[in-house]
Amino acid sequence: AFIHSLDRGQIVRSRVESVTLNVAKELTGKTVDNDQHVPPDHMPDMEEIALKYPAKSENTALERYKSDYALSLAKNKQFWQKRAAELITWDHYPYDENKCDDIMMGGFEFGDIAWFPGAKMNVCANAIDRHVQNGKTHQVAMIWEGDEPGQVLKFTYSELLRKVSAIANALKSQGVKKGDVVTIYMPMIPQLPMTMLACMRLGAVHSVVFAGFSSAALSSRISASKSSIVVTADIGVRAAKVIPLKKIVDEAIVMNDCKDIVKRVLVYERERSIASDDDAVPGDVGLSDNKINWVPNRDVNMNDLLPKQRPYCPPESMDAEDPSFILYTSGSTGQPKGLVHTTAGYAVYAAHTIQTTFDLQPNDIFACMADCGWITGHSYVVYGPLLSGSTTFIFESTPLYPDAGRYWDMVQRHKISLFYTAPTAVRSLIRYGDDVPKKYDLSSLRILGSVGEPINPAAWSWYYEAVGNKKCTIVDTYWQTETGGHILTNLPGVTPMKPGSCALPHYGIDCVVLDSVTGEIVEGDDVEGVLAIRGPWPGMARTCLGDHARYLETYFRPYEGYYFTGDAVRRDKDGYYFITGRVDDVLNVSGHRIGTAEVESALVKHPSVAQAAVVGRPHAIKGEAIVAFATVTESNTEDDDELVKELRALVRGEIGPFASPDIICITPSLPMTRSGKIMRRVLRKISTGEADQLGDVSTLADPSVVDTLIDLIGKHD
Ligand code: ATP
Ligand code: MG
Repeated sequence: AFIHSLDRGQIVRSRVESVTLNVAKELTGKTVDNDQHVPPDHMPDMEEIALKYPAKSENTALERYKSDYALSLAKNKQFWQKRAAELITWDHYPYDENKCDDIMMGGFEFGDIAWFPGAKMNVCANAIDRHVQNGKTHQVAMIWEGDEPGQVLKFTYSELLRKVSAIANALKSQGVKKGDVVTIYMPMIPQLPMTMLACMRLGAVHSVVFAGFSSAALSSRISASKSSIVVTADIGVRAAKVIPLKKIVDEAIVMNDCKDIVKRVLVYERERSIASDDDAVPGDVGLSDNKINWVPNRDVNMNDLLPKQRPYCPPESMDAEDPSFILYTSGSTGQPKGLVHTTAGYAVYAAHTIQTTFDLQPNDIFACMADCGWITGHSYVVYGPLLSGSTTFIFESTPLYPDAGRYWDMVQRHKISLFYTAPTAVRSLIRYGDDVPKKYDLSSLRILGSVGEPINPAAWSWYYEAVGNKKCTIVDTYWQTETGGHILTNLPGVTPMKPGSCALPHYGIDCVVLDSVTGEIVEGDDVEGVLAIRGPWPGMARTCLGDHARYLETYFRPYEGYYFTGDAVRRDKDGYYFITGRVDDVLNVSGHRIGTAEVESALVKHPSVAQAAVVGRPHAIKGEAIVAFATVTESNTEDDDELVKELRALVRGEIGPFASPDIICITPSLPMTRSGKIMRRVLRKISTGEADQLGDVSTLADPSVVDTLIDLIGKHD
């Protein structure tokens, strides 16, 4: 009986499709081609849907979502057992629908969580081999576009298997074995995801460090993970700028205790690696003025090593709970945390979320613009799309190179169907106007994703209208490095969109709102508090690297019995979630609790404002005063005083007089992490005159912004 009800549930892929189609029909009133997903051509609105389907509301997709979601929690172990069996090809899998009580062990008290214990699989074999074995030999697995538009490489699944196998054998020849940590500090060339997959194949734990990080940040990550192998490239190229990666690695290794830890540095030559001809002549090793320094007995040239390798390497059969990779958080709120993810739980969760959130189909071209150095790159550039047997897109450059049409040019040329980026990228493009995306044929697009920060309604509308032509669903995916995959999001054709809201919890994820003071669950709608999760899910990180106590303290001690996200949230009258900011960032002004995201959303509604950041600082009467920082768009012609007046009026109008900022600084730039998020803690320290106590700013993209802001604030005080 259970399986029957589970099948009824929104769990199986075909079901997602049919719901998608039904809803599209319901909303558009059009007949829909059977194998084509046609999203609603206007912005659906919960009230409208409720009005349209008053009596038989259980027929709407939203009602179905609700019952399926409830079922996924009530029968949580059965739910995950079913997903695990559907999504993964296991070497050994001791569970079935009648025997899945032991599918998860442990809990939040000790952080001893284990999913699918005793089961065995290999992530790389699931991402590549089984598709080759299932006849997808000629399907393109990976499209790479380099820094220069049109510089393209494509790899089929069988080519990918050969390339990854050769890299795995090369790693083996340098002593890498199961359980070893391999640090990867590479530009977005195809060999970056290939090296990640090669590590997975051997059961080696990869630790990808974003290639924009400094030598100090790299060094501390190598040191913390005791990684004896570092894989890098001579150079990286982004927006025609050359970054001397190998040189930075050399600098990193002389810091901390890395000299004793690092035994091998494996170096790809970028030029040779991206030459479509495998026999490309050894280059000058680095562009002429970036000749690299080879350290004898330590450095090895990968492009010389690879042709010697056998292009098949058997995958290591891994235990479900073996660690698969280490990854650091963005460091927005403090010192970055090194999280450890597992093998099977992570793979199940990455595949489950990408297929449900993006309605991913095998013939989709999935383009996630994140760098592999972030969790979004792990789950949705590499593992999610390949585990699903679709085509993933790897992008080496930036959205503004050579101009603001780059993304849309690529969508047109490669017929990208699913496109995923961050609000910060969207905001950086709005500056250049609607005309830019209009120049391109974007009709291949079906779903647009957003991740990383709340997407303010102004940016949402631009994404929806100028890019999606009001035809694409926007999925606002809320999640964290720690969660492994999406936690809250709307689902295309299932849950209606609401600009600025990450909608509703994903299947199987027991989200709750807690009272920030008492830790009690806040029931009902139209409430606010902190966002927490009540039980373990397969994709969650299992520990902090070398510091399990920090893992417990950060995530499980603040509210006993829950995983604490660190984010503040509002659940509106329809049960939709809005992330209002980091818990540390929530303001308390004259007794009003105000989310930084809400004030920022109001500010960026002004056509002259590109980006805004809001922090609080102590105020004798109000408790906290609001300090706002804003950057302006290219087209802004207003004088700063006039603009500040308009912004105050705007916030008053949008939220209320109590939220009107005490200080508004118009600034040329904001402190951003290298992953493109605003570091409000830096602004808070600057606003309170404590710029000497900024804490860990190793992930700050441009440290010079600090001095500019200190000057600006000085003028206001
Ligand atoms: P640190 O934990 O070191 O401070 P970080 O939290 O920025 O860094 P990530 O794991 O990259 O590191 O980011 C996760 C956070 O990003 C979430 O906790 C949330 O604050 C924010 N976030 C991600 N996606 C969304 C979204 N769709 N809507 C709102 N906020 C989001
Ligand atoms: Mg975080």
